[in-house]
Amino acid sequence: MTAHILDGIALSAQIRAQVALDAAALSAVGRPPCLAVILVGDDPASAVYVRNKVKACESHGLRSLMERYDDALGQSALLDRIAALNADPQVHGILVQMPLPRHLDPQAVIAAIDPHKDVDGFSVHSAGELMSGLPGLRPATPAGCMKLIESAGVAIKGRHAVIIGRSNTVGKPMALLLLQANATVTVCHSATLDIARHTRQADIVVAAVGRRHTVTAEMVKPGAIVIDVGINRDEGGKLCGDVDFAAVSEVAGWISPVPGGVGPMTITMLLVNTVLAARQQTQGPA
Ligand code: NAP
Repeated sequence: MTAHILDGIALSAQIRAQVALDAAALSAVGRPPCLAVILVGDDPASAVYVRNKVKACESHGLRSLMERYDDALGQSALLDRIAALNADPQVHGILVQMPLPRHLDPQAVIAAIDPHKDVDGFSVHSAGELMSGLPGLRPATPAGCMKLIESAGVAIKGRHAVIIGRSNTVGKPMALLLLQANATVTVCHSATLDIARHTRQADIVVAAVGRRHTVTAEMVKPGAIVIDVGINRDEGGKLCGDVDFAAVSEVAGWISPVPGGVGPMTITMLLVNTVLAARQQTQGPA
């Protein structure tokens, strides 16, 4: 079997076309969606992520505000900036790029963001909404994975989904989203005994570990949907995921590649969240 590729670039393009239409409609009535991005410190990877988010906003008709601070920024100064953005009616989404320098408390920083503007969906408030099945802003990466899974065109209801990884930003919200879609969900982690025993029974496998070759061909049921969230480098420095792509492609029914799978979907869902937040905060029909 050769798996169908779940192409995050193509799916993103479709979703982003709708984002651009929605942003234009809001702008036409004087309510352009606006994302504020705060970057503290000089981590080069974070700078690239932030630049890509700002660029994506600009090319789809969203406004963006970029605030960049050096390492010396203190906790209270950062919280003051967040308070100012919370109070600014022109700003609908606030994203503080993680990781923060060590002297800053990420939990306190995330908690300071107005829940209506928490477009990363990382706050306890947003997590509570997801947990309770209430509408709200969902974390972008798991939301993007759901779109990729749905794009396979196979009913999720009644399927067995196995997630490897239980972080607050990927694994746990992924489990809740799949549960909400009526999958039967198993979550594996570093203390799980015999992960392959679980994945071999899975109709859907989501790998969110951060370790190459966590999922091999022997671990996958023929025809399964395999979503690779991991971002790693191989010996040659080439980008790769958690899944042994070449071998698993011969067994799975659908597979998302790295790069070109979950990565583009993450930024796309951030745009979707920003438009949603703008629409809700400005309370109009557009
Ligand atoms: P994380 O916070 O480090 O969590 C990793 C999870 O994997 C933990 O739950 C850990 O278990 C589990 N784990 C570690 N080693 C394991 C093993 N040998 N077997 C089974 N489980 C194991 O990472 P994350 O933030 O969730 O991210 C996971 C990966 O996705 C990373 O490569 C990250 O770069 C990538 N990522 C990609 C995107 C994107 O847009 N494409 C977005 C976010 C993250 P314990 O809980 O027991 O420690």
